[in-house]
Amino acid sequence: MDWQSLLGHDRQRIWFQNAIQNQRLASTFLFVGPSAIGKRTFAKLLAQTLLCTTSEPSDFKPCGRCETCVQMNAGTHPDLIQIAKQPDKTALSIDQFIGSDEHRMREGLCYEIRMKPYSNRRKIAIIDDADTIGEEGANSLLKTLEEPPPGSVIILISTSLQRQLPTIRSRCQVVRFQPLSSENLTTLALRHQLISDHEQAERISKHAHGSLAEFAIYADESLREFQQEMRTQLTYRPMDFVKFAKAVQGNVESVGTESQPRRERLKLLIDFAQQHFRDVMSNNLGKDPMLVDRTLRGIKRCLEAKEHVDRMVAPAALIEAWAADIASI
Ligand SMILES: [Zn+2]
Repeated sequence: MDWQSLLGHDRQRIWFQNAIQNQRLASTFLFVGPSAIGKRTFAKLLAQTLLCTTSEPSDFKPCGRCETCVQMNAGTHPDLIQIAKQPDKTALSIDQFIGSDEHRMREGLCYEIRMKPYSNRRKIAIIDDADTIGEEGANSLLKTLEEPPPGSVIILISTSLQRQLPTIRSRCQVVRFQPLSSENLTTLALRHQLISDHEQAERISKHAHGSLAEFAIYADESLREFQQEMRTQLTYRPMDFVKFAKAVQGNVESVGTESQPRRERLKLLIDFAQQHFRDVMSNNLGKDPMLVDRTLRGIKRCLEAKEHVDRMVAPAALIEAWAADIASI
């Protein structure tokens, strides 16, 4: 991966290049923007740019061939610390910051970043899924964010500024990332072989809100069909919420038995309903105030349900309550 093949985010790239050239690069950054648009790739490229041994950081052109570049690409360079939410967890764990109970303060990101850099340059940490840092995790990280070791760079990757605790937000320089243009998304989807037909890729890109993750979903035909079925059921009055809840539950179960993928699928299906309400609302603005009011209640109920998904042990009850509520709006 190199800067030339990164799609979009030109403004952010120029901004970092200037900061490095003027030697005023800050230490702690919060990357904010929708998921699957290239924030993590950007962070890794930046790390590679700062550590490449054959080109100067200010050139902003890591060679891609030196040992450091190769290790960075493989994610094995000792000066690059990466943490992300583990697949079976709903949040980053405090152990990832300060070590497990047995190794408190002798392991984890906050410990590793204080070690002498192997490259004699700097340590760089990338914290993925920063939306899920809880209060405990944030507290363990504060001191490191406040007094980062000299030269170190810490990048937190998040999808929304609102999801960050004020204590974290105030200690980081916020860098906003925009969704990809539909042209860039088409190129990326073809490159990642999510689809082979160029025209179809262009069509899907228009609806995917600049996100590769959303593109992947829309490229899945069975899911698109289910979305259509949901829309039909949501439109029909009186809405049969028992049938609707069963259909949603069935689709959630179809992704397997693990709870995390099921939660993700449920959030997506709630999103489908929310999109439906949003469409109904925008088609009726200025025409039918009562209907607009009702759909607005539907949207609010969907937002609320999504907030609850991660906290639920068994989603069946949540699905039923949500379905019953949106049927009665
Ligand atoms: Zn290099």
